[in-house]
Amino acid sequence: MNAQLDPQIRHDWNEQEVQALFDLPFNDLLFRAQSIHRTYFDPNEVQVSTLLSIKTGACPEDCKYCPQSAHYNTGLEKQRLMEVEAVLNKAKEAKAKGSTRFCMGAAWKNPNKRDMPYVLEMVKGVKAMGLETCMTLGMLNEEQAGELAEAGLDYYNHNLDTSPDYYDQIITTRTYSDRLDTLQHVRDSGMKICSGGIIGMGERKKDRIGLLAQLANLPVHPESVPINMLVKVKGTPLEDVEDLDPIDFVRCIAVARILMPKSHVRLSAGREDMSDEMQAMCFMAGANSIFYGECLLTTPNPEAHKDMQLFKRLGLRPEQAIVDHNDDEQAEVLSKQVQKNDQNQPFYDASV
Ligand code: SF4
Repeated sequence: MNAQLDPQIRHDWNEQEVQALFDLPFNDLLFRAQSIHRTYFDPNEVQVSTLLSIKTGACPEDCKYCPQSAHYNTGLEKQRLMEVEAVLNKAKEAKAKGSTRFCMGAAWKNPNKRDMPYVLEMVKGVKAMGLETCMTLGMLNEEQAGELAEAGLDYYNHNLDTSPDYYDQIITTRTYSDRLDTLQHVRDSGMKICSGGIIGMGERKKDRIGLLAQLANLPVHPESVPINMLVKVKGTPLEDVEDLDPIDFVRCIAVARILMPKSHVRLSAGREDMSDEMQAMCFMAGANSIFYGECLLTTPNPEAHKDMQLFKRLGLRPEQAIVDHNDDEQAEVLSKQVQKNDQNQPFYDASV
């Protein structure tokens, strides 16, 4: 098999190899990313998550891109930790609207002891609805990771944000190795990892290479890799940073897909600033997950919604979460997936 089309899972990427991917002609890069994507995923399915901020603003960290940091005055309305019941009501709504994963985010340096019982109740309640659960609460120690895992948390989000070299230009209140430690605690607890970064913070190409190599060289690839495009918020130190070339962003998605073939690569923050054509290009490059805000996947009139219109135009479908099914249904879903993979096979034979 042509080495360029060999979708092996690797954890030993060096920066020259990643740079060589970035340097490929755009069409070659996209073709390679799309070929790998088809080996592991249905290319026309996109996983859909809903995100809820359960505690907003007043964060002691100084992440230069973030309107929730207490270090910057962005006029953001702060909100204390939400009541458990209110969170569960939001999750119920998200499920009714077609989301399969419910992500809860709190702007903390780390969760404190007082908050943990509420957070654990939220996890249990959302899980009991048959939704996949995800949280982002800042740094975790080993014990907290264990408690969350025991409560049924499926995913923990903790981004690396950028390369180790550029990191201290963006955050000074926690170190890169703090982040890696949290990821290790999450992995050790048995939860899945959601970890990615932000593109467009004034970083150089070598920092994008460094970020993606770092993620790909983790002992296990994160199951979810959010690739965010910086949203420039007035009042943050990055409000005037130079605009990102959309083609460079698509390249990052494609390289992430090649480096981490089995991960869900998520179009995350910044999607609202992307044109339909740019999003289509990102799906082509291997993105297969999005956050879906207050929108209706199962609304009687889905055409009314912009995202659903785009899905329709592109022939995309929301991916179904296997947690929604009982054992028999799950077996059926898996067997359909196997059949689909078999049907996809000739594509690869033909393209080698
Ligand atoms: S830790 Fe999270 S919420 Fe806090 S400033 Fe950084 S990105 Fe924002």
